[in-house]
Amino acid sequence: MSGEIRDVIVIGSGPAGYTAALYTARADLKPLVFEGSVTAGGALMNTTEVENFPGFPEGIVGPDLMDGMRAQAARFGAELVTDDVVAVNLTGRIKTVTDTSGTAHRARTVIVTTGSQHRKLNLDREDELSGRGVSYCATCDGFFFRERDIVVVGGGDTAMEEATFLTRFARSVTVIHRRSTLRASQAMQNRAFADEKISFAFDSEITEIKQESNALSGLVLRNVLSGETRELAATGLFVAIGHDPRTELFTGQLDLDDEGYLKVQAPSTRTNIPGVFGAGDVVDHTYRQAITAAGSGCAAALDAERYLAALT
Ligand code: FAD
Repeated sequence: MSGEIRDVIVIGSGPAGYTAALYTARADLKPLVFEGSVTAGGALMNTTEVENFPGFPEGIVGPDLMDGMRAQAARFGAELVTDDVVAVNLTGRIKTVTDTSGTAHRARTVIVTTGSQHRKLNLDREDELSGRGVSYCATCDGFFFRERDIVVVGGGDTAMEEATFLTRFARSVTVIHRRSTLRASQAMQNRAFADEKISFAFDSEITEIKQESNALSGLVLRNVLSGETRELAATGLFVAIGHDPRTELFTGQLDLDDEGYLKVQAPSTRTNIPGVFGAGDVVDHTYRQAITAAGSGCAAALDAERYLAALT
């Protein structure tokens, strides 16, 4: 057990975590930040150009943006640790957060910003071509796919929304879905069916990603009913089969919704446990953007500050 009782521990180091760290550090609360061991810096460490984070008119590459956020939090005294949290006890007035060495760190408040993981197809070349034709976010990357033939995988609301959004840029959009009917709401389906640029391949799955000159060049589709395969030329693949929020650590302590996202008392970032706050993609299944994650990280820091002020 570490001796000190901190004011704030932040779990996570994406835009939400670093922003919460920056604000609490500037409020002189000396936050301890667990950045995670594998994905310190969060989801944007795996991307190239970010063109929609305000303040960078020429765009900025994801890792540079995150390095800047990290340095800014550190400048004001945030203590940053590249380690995972493996256990938490959040129920009492003093919370404990345990790292991989087994040391329990104590704090009056905890800000949870552990993000969410987009689901993958788990195909060969998928990781390699991420950012080179394979994407998991139409809002983020659609702009790069002007006049291209694009494929969207999925049958839910997100897939329909992404397909419809992508028609602004693409020459054609083909929606691939494993079943014969969509899961999306009727309104979303109607919009997609009415769009001349969108076509559908039902009862189909992708079995292979084709590559040419280090970029996506096409896909092999298999009809799940007949077993027949065919090739489809495409230079963009948007995977929209859902996200898994990283909340396993908190199960049984913090209230989660049906999809496993952390529940907060919106518009605040308060969870069901006093002194514990949630921000970023671990809470948000609607917007999922760096700027919205940063904004809610700021809100969580301000909520934590107010909570601490009320304790004294
Ligand atoms: P994340 O960035 O996911 O960070 C979560 C953090 O929690 C990580 O640092 C991880 O290490 C840490 N963590 C998790 N569990 C633990 C634990 N047990 N212990 C310690 N740490 C832990 N958004 C845009 O606005 N513009 C874009 O152009 C854009 N492009 C994208 C491209 C890709 C390929 C992806 C995947 C996403 C993109 N996004 C983009 C979305 C954006 O990255 C996310 O919305 C944003 O990163 C969410 O921030 P977050 O802080 O909530 O979570």
